[in-house]
Amino acid sequence: MRYCQSPGCSRPVSGWSLHCNAHKSRARRHGDPQQEGVTKAQLKPYLEVVRRRITKNADTLPGRPWKATGWRSSSTPMQS
Ligand SMILES: [Zn+2]
Repeated sequence: MRYCQSPGCSRPVSGWSLHCNAHKSRARRHGDPQQEGVTKAQLKPYLEVVRRRITKNADTLPGRPWKATGWRSSSTPMQS
């Protein structure tokens, strides 16, 4: 019997995987067996920052850098 290779996990592996069912699912869903789901509550403060940034740059065209970032590109001149 082989056991899950995730640190701290002692469940048997699922099929030919290196991980148990739970860690195999996490790896498939999130890209890493240690990654847990990110909740809406955890994202809330960042969502507010992004909304403010979008509002502040409402006149910026899609594909153009946001003015508030201060980023300049010689290949894509900014319109003002
Ligand atoms: Zn596991």
